[in-house]
Order: sequence, then structure tokens, then C-alpha cells
Amino acid sequence: MTLASLEHLAKTWHAALDAELEGARAFRRFIHANPEVSGDELATREHVAERLELPLIPVADTGGFARIGPDSGPSIALRAELDALPVTERTGVEWAADNGAMHACGHDVHMAALTAVLRAARTLDLPFGLVGLFQPREETYPSGAQDMCAAGTLERDDVRHVIGAHVHPSVARGAVSTGAGAVNAASSELRVTVRGQGGHGAYPHQGNDVAHAVAQLVVGLAEVVRRTTNPMQPALISVGSISVGEGAANVLPAEGSVAAMVRSMGDGDDARLEAAVRRYVEHTAESFGVTAEVTWSHGEPVLSNAPELVAMLDARLPSVGLEIAPTMRSLGADDFSFFGQQVPSVMCFVGVDSVSEHPAHSLHDPHFLPDEEAVDRVARTLVCGYLAAAERLAGMTDAE
Ligand SMILES: [Zn+2]
Repeated sequence: MTLASLEHLAKTWHAALDAELEGARAFRRFIHANPEVSGDELATREHVAERLELPLIPVADTGGFARIGPDSGPSIALRAELDALPVTERTGVEWAADNGAMHACGHDVHMAALTAVLRAARTLDLPFGLVGLFQPREETYPSGAQDMCAAGTLERDDVRHVIGAHVHPSVARGAVSTGAGAVNAASSELRVTVRGQGGHGAYPHQGNDVAHAVAQLVVGLAEVVRRTTNPMQPALISVGSISVGEGAANVLPAEGSVAAMVRSMGDGDDARLEAAVRRYVEHTAESFGVTAEVTWSHGEPVLSNAPELVAMLDARLPSVGLEIAPTMRSLGADDFSFFGQQVPSVMCFVGVDSVSEHPAHSLHDPHFLPDEEAVDRVARTLVCGYLAAAERLAGMTDAE
């Protein structure tokens, strides 16, 4: 394959996509009106397969994938998510969902874009296999991407690179943020249960002060982060829930709990934080004469974009009318990082306007509604991603 043939492919692919976009926007509205939450995406998978006119090979319970182009040899994967959130929609559009679930994270847009990209590529002469990954359970644990990786999905088709594109209202409409290196955080969940001897509030010397121990843990967790990770690498623990006692003012409760979210960007920071938090909780509990049990659930690893792929992808975006946005790095988390952990990959954040009655500036908001042409821009970005990965796979940087 030469650079000239790749440029010819780019031209024909984008032209074929032009003919798919109207149908893709209609498909997006249909998917938006019929959302299914994480783990329930069976009908959604069926709709995608129908639209693709291709069977999807089932994986990770409710997920699926399909390969087009060359049947064997290395391939490049493009990823979309199937799941919606348990959110009651308030966008006010005619095609709003009314079943208590909502595509409030833009996954409807991603599915419509990826199906359009695959449909447009069916008759093209692709240099490498193109695998469409339709993953389930992005929004919950266990992660759908992790399960697909564990099932050997990438090995099966010799996937060398994975490209993802996620709509984002913090990026300007018409722009795309890629960026080399870590763009999303590693994520864990922490739960602590504290137990002691309950009793009468007037006789603290005959029991334990579980409420005070819980309060001390909440205050101290932020300090553990500060003492454990390099301050030049962001990390945080946000306490989301505490519970102790049953409402009585004069009872020393026997049990309490703390639940917190943990995010970090540095290599190995999640493991370092786990060890430090366990130590802190254990000894704090001991100093209060109570016991504490820590459950640490590991979520996604750091999402890191492969620098050489980012450069090639960015070079292609302006040719389809997309601007390169300043890199958006955040302590958000996306399980796309499991793919990136296995092969060099890129996640692109595609700028959108929210266009509901009360536009929302945050994903997962019941008013969040990406503009209809977001489907076009996500699709163009994915095509640029495949072409950049193909360029990389063919070793063109070395050869040209
Ligand atoms: Zn999402």
C-alpha cells in the first residue's frame, strides 16, 4: 500500500459516507428513542446488526463485533458503546425516550456514526481488516470493554490499534480533541465499614465512638492522597456517601460506612493509593478502638493515547473540516482504556452543542442532547482514525 492509495481510499470513503449520513441521523433518533441500560443491550445490538446488514458476533453477554475488509491478517478496530443510563430524559424532543432510560452520554450518536462508517466501507478495498466493536456496559461494572478484552476479542482478529470517538460538550462544535498521553484517569471505588461497641451517648467510656471514627476517615482521606502521589500528577478521592447511626441523638452507633471514588493519572498511583488508604484506615480505626473493613474495587486503568497515532490522526482532521482542539485531559474515566492497555490506541473527544430546550453542558445530564450533525463529525473522526492507524501499520512514516 502506498500513501497515494491511502489518500484515494480516504476520498472514496468520505464520499461514500456522504450518502450514509442522512440514514445515520435517523438511526440515531431511533436508538435515542429506544434506550437500554447497561447489561440489557440485547435489542440495541439487534438494531445495530440490522442496520449494518451484517451479523454481529456476540461477546461479553450483550456486546458484539463484526469484521469487514480482508478476512485475515492484522486489523484496526473502531469502538462504539451500546448502553444508556438510568436517567429520566428531559430534552423535550419528539424522539425523547420515555422508559426511564436515556442516551445521556451520546452513545446513540457513536452507534449511528460507527454503523455509517462500516456501511460506507463495505465496498471499499481496505488495506487491513476493519473491526466494529459494539461494547456493552460502559457505564457500569463489570466493564464491557474489560470483558471483551478478556474474551480475546482483539487477539481473534489480530487487532493492532483501536480508535474511539466520544462526543463532548466541553470541546467546541467542529473541533476534536485527541492529545498524546494520559487523557482520562484510572478509577477505583473504595468502601469502608467501621464497627465498634454501640451504647448510650452519655457513657462514651463504655462504648466506641464510631461516628467520630467515620468523620476522621472522611477528613483524612484527602490528606492521604496529598502524602502519597506526586503533586505534579493529579489524583483525588471524593467521598460520595457516609452513613452512621439511625437518627437518634443519644445513641452511640455500632456501625458506620464511607464510600468514595478514587481517580489518578500517574503510573502505579492507584496501587500506591490503595496501600496507603488501607494503612491509614486500619490504624485510624485502631486508634479509636474500632475495626474497619476496606473494599477496594479496581475500575478502569489510565486512558493513554498513543503519541504516534495522535499525530497522524490530527494531520487528517482538517481535510474533513474538523479543527484540532486543545487537548482535553480530565479525571473522567472511560473503559476504552482497557483496549488502550492492550494495543496502541486513541480516544478522540468530538465537540458538540447540546440543543435541547435547556441545553446541558455536562454528559449524563437529563437535558444533554448532542446536535444532529454530531453523527457526521464522529463518523468522519472514526474514518480519520482508521486511516491514521493504517498509515502507521503500513509503516509509512519509515518508508515514505
Ligand atoms: Zn460515554
